[in-house]
Amino acid sequence: MNKSLRCNRPHSSPDTWPFSDPPTLAVITTREVLSRAASILLAAHEPDGSWTFLDRDDWTQDDLVMICFEHIFEIEPELHPLLLRLPTGRALARDAPGGAWSALSWPPMTT
Ligand SMILES: [Zn+2]
Repeated sequence: MNKSLRCNRPHSSPDTWPFSDPPTLAVITTREVLSRAASILLAAHEPDGSWTFLDRDDWTQDDLVMICFEHIFEIEPELHPLLLRLPTGRALARDAPGGAWSALSWPPMTT
């Protein structure tokens, strides 16, 4: 965790970047989100401090890719202000692209 990616794309200066995690922090998403074939429906701040951005539940390991934290907001800008207030062990989820985000405990309690 807390690994930065080698990435040649532009990133915000640390002076203007509001998150405690750096803009180049490696976060997990799916190929579909990265290619914009699907929208993020779950944004999770894992208990260990890492971040996960998924478009569906039935992903497999082969679907997952690592990208810079900052590039998530190029894909889904509306998450930016919301994630500033999202502590570890919490997630934001929505039912469909464009829907309202709701907060939940993460990982979800299983009974
Ligand atoms: Zn990058």
